[in-house]
Amino acid sequence: MTNRLYAKTALLADGWARDVLLEWDARGRLTNVSKNTAADDLANVDQATGPVIPGMSNLHSHAFQRAMAGLAERMGDPRDSFWTWREVMYSFLARITPDDAHAIAAQLYMECLKRGYTAIGEFHYLHHAPGGAHYDDIAEMSKQVVGAATEIGLGITHLPVLYAFGGFGEQPLGEAQQRFKNDADGILEIIQATSRAFADNPDVRVGLAPHSLRAVNKAMLVKAVSGLHGMTDDAPVHIHIAEQIKEVDDCITWSGSRPVDWLYDHMDVDARWCLIHATHLTDGECDRIAASKAVAGICPTTEGNLGDGLFPMLRFREKQGVWGVGSDSHVSQCPVEELRLLEYGQRLLHRRRNLIASEERASVGATLWGEAALGGAQALGREAGELAVGKRADLVVLNGDHVNLAGREGDTILDALVFAGNECLVRDVMVGGNWRIRAGHHTQEDAIRDRYKSTLAKLLAE
Ligand SMILES: [Zn+2]
Repeated sequence: MTNRLYAKTALLADGWARDVLLEWDARGRLTNVSKNTAADDLANVDQATGPVIPGMSNLHSHAFQRAMAGLAERMGDPRDSFWTWREVMYSFLARITPDDAHAIAAQLYMECLKRGYTAIGEFHYLHHAPGGAHYDDIAEMSKQVVGAATEIGLGITHLPVLYAFGGFGEQPLGEAQQRFKNDADGILEIIQATSRAFADNPDVRVGLAPHSLRAVNKAMLVKAVSGLHGMTDDAPVHIHIAEQIKEVDDCITWSGSRPVDWLYDHMDVDARWCLIHATHLTDGECDRIAASKAVAGICPTTEGNLGDGLFPMLRFREKQGVWGVGSDSHVSQCPVEELRLLEYGQRLLHRRRNLIASEERASVGATLWGEAALGGAQALGREAGELAVGKRADLVVLNGDHVNLAGREGDTILDALVFAGNECLVRDVMVGGNWRIRAGHHTQEDAIRDRYKSTLAKLLAE
């Protein structure tokens, strides 16, 4: 395999460049990024057929939910809400075996790769057998899901979820939640076992996800986070924080504080943290997240699907907050759709145009892609998000022949990518120096899809 790629035009850390030569080492780390390369240096170098941009990190996923996308879109109870959707989700997940979880995750991860994601944060809470009994290996489910990512070649930051209670104030778990149940020691055991199993793969990282303030208590939270950082100092910590008004109200009833305030009052939240669905914030909470450099994990299509609300994006960016996007419940597997909806939500809210941009970078498409790629990589604890020496060779080659890119150059390529039409403009995708998608396809595509279809037929027949 040649470890070199030439691109006529590529988006580097300091902007668009021409005649770019990228080189990487056997571990998939970029060792050389040169501009204006002379033609005679290019013998035996792989040539990108379109513009090259950094790959996108998908910072929030519950892989098994891919299989129920579209199953909860029928009007029934007039009070249909996040909480009624959650009941449908629980009844579905009660049937999933380790093999099913693997098959579903593999299909999802392949779809994510094909659309330009190069890594995913798997917020994984389906740990145990139905009823709550542990599998022979307590990390069985985690290993299946990470195994699916390594089979497909998507970078993964696996985030085993600490889930111990059914509501604020240590309420007991419900029947459907028994599969999620762990204490701090149990989750640390899963983290350690999963890390060991994939220790030699540079595209696998392991962190921790305390599910939410309603699912843990303070002692557990402290113990799990310090246990994680005792093992790996820079490992990421993700938490669902303020997705629903009811969650905020319940937190106030329990503690007298709103969830983000509670978290910052009791934990040392820094750039290793990622706050998922920081949707309902006061200005003060918004500013605390921004100042801490924790990543705000925004999931626009899922937040729209569930009727959560809109993230206060303009204030957060004004305060130099770090953010990224996730596909969460997988009603979409496409970063373009997340970014477009994020900008459109703000336009509809403020009744203005071109909001997620700045004087220095007027292009909305380039600002969205660039900031989300960097913030997402930070959230996944992954040296990625831009094409620069020392970063992972994670990149996307766009389809330079596509009509939507005709006459587009520089940042207008990204404006076209995000805002022109619904056809996928991703042609080739590389993760850690390995081509995973070529000409829009994965080498295992048919087998992965057929296995997913038979898994679905089985699950829906039960
Ligand atoms: Zn989530």
